[in-house]
Amino acid sequence: MKKVLIANRGEIALRIMRCCRDMGIGTVAVYSTADRELKHVRLADEAVCIGPPQSTDSYLNIPALISAAEITDADAIHPGYGFLSENADFAERVESSGFTFIGPTGSVIRLMGDKVSAIREMRAAGVPCVPGSDGPLGSDPSTNLKLANDIGYPIIIKAAGGGGGRGMRVVRSDDELIESIELTKAEAGAAFNNDVVYMEKFLEKPRHVEFQVLADTHGNAIHLGERDCSMQRRHQKVVEEAPAPGITQEQRDLMGARCVDACKRLGYRGAGTFEFLYENGEFYFIEMNTRVQVEHPVTEMITGVDIVKEQLRVAAGEPLGYKQEDIRIKGHAVECRINAEDPETFMPSPGLVEQFHPPGGLGVRVDSHIYNGYRVPPYYDSMIGKLIVHGNSRATAVARMRGALSEAFIVGIKTNIPLLAAIMADENFAQGETDIHYLEKKLGIS
Ligand code: ADP
Repeated sequence: MKKVLIANRGEIALRIMRCCRDMGIGTVAVYSTADRELKHVRLADEAVCIGPPQSTDSYLNIPALISAAEITDADAIHPGYGFLSENADFAERVESSGFTFIGPTGSVIRLMGDKVSAIREMRAAGVPCVPGSDGPLGSDPSTNLKLANDIGYPIIIKAAGGGGGRGMRVVRSDDELIESIELTKAEAGAAFNNDVVYMEKFLEKPRHVEFQVLADTHGNAIHLGERDCSMQRRHQKVVEEAPAPGITQEQRDLMGARCVDACKRLGYRGAGTFEFLYENGEFYFIEMNTRVQVEHPVTEMITGVDIVKEQLRVAAGEPLGYKQEDIRIKGHAVECRINAEDPETFMPSPGLVEQFHPPGGLGVRVDSHIYNGYRVPPYYDSMIGKLIVHGNSRATAVARMRGALSEAFIVGIKTNIPLLAAIMADENFAQGETDIHYLEKKLGIS
């Protein structure tokens, strides 16, 4: 593999570019007309404009991306996260056009991208799932009412094709059920072009715990332990950490091995994440992400494994650089997602970054594409970077994050740094005793 086209933008495009540079691989950046000033566009070996600002015309424009790979003679395409990263048709188009897709096969993406088929697959692999409907909900109201009562309220209606925290609705009684199913179906049809919905028990106090896996095309698969991503707003992660507080090595070995088995069964390749809700000592599978995740750095910090490098190695047909027994967890890592938004109203705050002073020091990592004079465009996700810290213990890591946040200085746009600082100062967070509903309760919005 000599040249990789990075089909993404922002911090993850920069992250992938840095890894390619480490490995002596050439890079092609693609950008919309709103993104000419992106850091990795300036630094990549080659850069191709793929269209106007709207994602549908640029970062989601499959013909434009394939053409960019053709004219630059790239060997492989890395999709990053979001955009086309979990689009099975894109993965297939990339491969049928003669390029390597850095990720699993289209058929595995399709299977795991549909939450209903993913759950079925995991049940068959012996992975525990949330109690719920066995497959899609039909249109008969009395059957659905009976199902909800059998599972027991509260329940959650979820879209099979949902993602990004959208396409979910909690239902607490018979009165709301039928209308909620119809509403979620309509929304899912409009948003994901797939109106299949299913039902799950709504867990009241779970934590979000997820396992990172890596698999190659030689039949090897390993896990890199787990992350806790319970600090969420609107089902979207705000803070992540690894390892998950309170998870024992025995639990890690057991669940990790189940995820590894599932990878082997699926013929999985590349990096992936099995997401679980964790309540009263039990894990319940909710979905798989068949791509690199925003929060992958916390795992890198505690294992020393460069996850993007392993993705590239696997895509090049090489075996994984590690065996399970090579993986040792060292210390604790915490990540904060920095968004260009109002810390109280959460309204996006695009605009000119007049000044940016990133934090630094021992165990501090900043993955961000912003710089002094960079203008955050209004067209994309508001995340402008990630602050990741590592320490020998959780307490050290949290203290280090507090310091790093107080050092991070961004002038010109509003950011959520005050909210992140409040989370780091929170007593319950310090105890590692928060569940997925904690942040919204703390914010008084639930
Ligand atoms: P997405 O693909 O949109 O990320 P997920 O299925 O991963 O959707 O769920 C995202 C979040 O929604 C979870 O981390 C959790 O906070 C919440 N959630 C999903 N299913 C349930 C459930 N059965 N009970 C309680 N919360 C849930």
